[in-house]
Amino acid sequence: MSVDVEDIKYLLRYYQALGFEALPILLPAARDAMSDADSGTQCGDRKSRLKELRAFIGDCQRCKLAKHRSRLVFGAGNPDARLMFVGEAPGKEEDLQGLPFVGDAGMLLTRLIVKMGMRRDDVYIANVIKCRPPMNRDPEEDEIATCRGFIERQIQIIRPQIIMTLGRIALQALMEMPKIRITSARGHFYDYKGIPLMPTFHPAYLLRNPRDKVLTWADAQKVMARITLSSAGGNPS
Ligand code: URA
Repeated sequence: MSVDVEDIKYLLRYYQALGFEALPILLPAARDAMSDADSGTQCGDRKSRLKELRAFIGDCQRCKLAKHRSRLVFGAGNPDARLMFVGEAPGKEEDLQGLPFVGDAGMLLTRLIVKMGMRRDDVYIANVIKCRPPMNRDPEEDEIATCRGFIERQIQIIRPQIIMTLGRIALQALMEMPKIRITSARGHFYDYKGIPLMPTFHPAYLLRNPRDKVLTWADAQKVMARITLSSAGGNPS
C-alpha cells in the first residue's frame, strides 16, 4: 500500500493540532545520530535528543504504573554531564513535581553532590522507572522490562564519563544482574557498555542507616578520582 504525500501532510497537521511538537519516528538525521551514539561517538545536540526521547515516551501507558502516577518523571540535569546518577523510581514528592530526587532522599543526594564539589545542575539524574509505584513498592519485573529502554537511551545520549547507581534496583536493572547484592557490589566499578559504573547505597537507605553514609562517601571519592583523572578529555560533544 502506498501513502499519498497529502495524506501524510494531513496526518502531521492533525498531530500538530493535538499539540504534538515531534513525532516518535526517527528521521534519517536522528537515525544517524543514534548510530553515532551506538558506535561511541557523540554528535548532535544532547538536549534536543533528550527532548525527542521525552516526546517519544509521551503520555506513557505502556505499563500498569501509568494509572497510579500524577506525573511522569523523565530525568533532570545537565545533558552534557560527566556524572550521571541513576535511581530506582519516583517517590511521592517526585510524582507530584515531575522531577527526580526532590524529596528527603533527594536532599541527601544533593548534599552528596555538593560534597563532591559539584552542583545538581552539573550532573544528570534519572531513574530506571519513570512512574511512581503505588505506596513506593519495589518496581516489578514487567515494569522494569518495559521502562529500562528509556534509561538506557538516556545514558546512550548523555554518555557520561561515570554512572553512579543508587541502590539495588538500579544496579540490578542496568547491569541485568538480578541476583547481585548492593552490599557486596558497592565500592567496585562495573562496566556498563564501556562506561564505568559505581554502585552505591540508595539515599533513602542512608536516611535509615546514617552510619553507612561513610561508605557512600568512600564510593563517591573513587568516582571523583576517576572524573578528575579523565577530565582532560572532558565530555566531548
Ligand atoms: N528514590 C528514587 O529512586 N528516585 C527518586 O527520584 C526519588 C526517590
